[in-house]
Amino acid sequence: MEYRRTQLEALGRFLEENRCEILQAVNADMRRPAYEGDLSEFSLVMNEVNNALNNLCRWMQDESVSKNLATIFDSAFIRKDPYGVVLIISPFNFPFHTTLIPLVGAIAAGNCAIVKPSELSRCSEKLMAEVLPNYLDPDTFAVVTGGHEPTARLLENKFDYIFFTGSPPVGKIVMTAAAKHLTPLTMELGGQNPCYVDCCCDFQNAANRIVWGKFFNAGQSCIAPNYVICTADTQDRLIPCLRQAIHSFYGCNPQESPDFGRMINDKHFQRVRSLLDCGRVVIGGETDECDRYIAPTVLADVKEWEPVMQEEIFGPVLPILTVANLEEAIQYINSRDHPLIAYAFSCSSKVVDRVLSCTCSGIFSGNDVLMHMSLVTLPFGGIGCSGFGKYHGKFSFDTFTHQRGCLTRCMGLEALNSVRYPPYTERKLQILKFGTDIRRWNPCTLL
Ligand code: NAD
Repeated sequence: MEYRRTQLEALGRFLEENRCEILQAVNADMRRPAYEGDLSEFSLVMNEVNNALNNLCRWMQDESVSKNLATIFDSAFIRKDPYGVVLIISPFNFPFHTTLIPLVGAIAAGNCAIVKPSELSRCSEKLMAEVLPNYLDPDTFAVVTGGHEPTARLLENKFDYIFFTGSPPVGKIVMTAAAKHLTPLTMELGGQNPCYVDCCCDFQNAANRIVWGKFFNAGQSCIAPNYVICTADTQDRLIPCLRQAIHSFYGCNPQESPDFGRMINDKHFQRVRSLLDCGRVVIGGETDECDRYIAPTVLADVKEWEPVMQEEIFGPVLPILTVANLEEAIQYINSRDHPLIAYAFSCSSKVVDRVLSCTCSGIFSGNDVLMHMSLVTLPFGGIGCSGFGKYHGKFSFDTFTHQRGCLTRCMGLEALNSVRYPPYTERKLQILKFGTDIRRWNPCTLL
């Protein structure tokens, strides 16, 4: 425990002593505003470090479990063993967040770890590779850099656990490599997050929240609403509010706003720009290739067969798909792969509950975006094509922990054990079953 504590404290010091460098790195990589950088790359990671330090002792303790009559004098418990050597592969968009939050869990659970940040966010990768090793024990933790070739070579090795955050196609490559060694893994992937907006809504509040969640990090976020789904009437009422929110957040020329980011590279810029031909541009639509700038854009009347509805957008483009009613929206959401997060906005809690109950997603958020990230008590992770496994807070510790079921018995009391041994008799079997069988509870008859 002391070793883990020292390493977690060292990780905390890395964050605190390099806070400015971290903010500068994500700004250099994606023109990330300092405010957004501080929230996602510093504060949320620091929360995880502090939470792990506060709870480490409790998390590590053996957990007693209930026993049956046959084991009444014995010790039955779950031992929290580390897996061993774990590999953490992370994406470009939240480079410190997606590398270091899993690392907190890996350290807390007692593992050795190799982290492999994305080569696309170059400045962030460089900072982690050059500075992080000055804080952590080099015998136990290492940073490996590079793109798919070094990662492929890394994956030839046998790890005890792999934690991958990234796109579904690369996730499949990583899973295939893990399968060769039967290595267990967590897949934190992306998808197309739906955002249902009801006709009974405070449209301006909903628009403010959707705009913040969508255009945070210029839309390069796995939990950004990918598309809005609503009726045509709601679309008409929502669009002026979205325009108002974009204008008040980023001014009349968002390219000049210090609070709006840029696409990570030319390839992603071109990919997202090509989606602007879909539907009808009602807000934004301007681009500047030299600056990798795409204005905060809203596309109305988008059709489900258009390219923008076929992929995770991962850029500042918000399509609106119109449907006849709530039931059709739910049907549409359920006809797609399970998303990482589903959003629903309505003044009626019944409507929010209906979207929650009738859809399936890794996470759900009613009437707001992103704020669930501030709670280390909520599990974070996808389902189906958006991934599997959970992390954040205690869930990270559990992810990197092998829960070893243990039963230790005393050497004596052999008379009690003799019912298990041949020669078998019906009576011995009855006695053993009496001590081990689980019976159905009787329904309560007190009333
Ligand atoms: P990506 O899948 O392209 O890359 C992720 C990592 O895999 C990088 O470190 C990269 O170097 C490595 N990689 C790339 N190609 C590889 C290959 N052929 N073999 C082995 N390794 C390879 O993802 P990205 O573009 O960096 O990030 C965007 C994706 O990540 C989106 O789909 C987004 O939804 C997802 N994401 C998910 C979460 C989550 O928590 N679920 C968080 C952030 C991002």
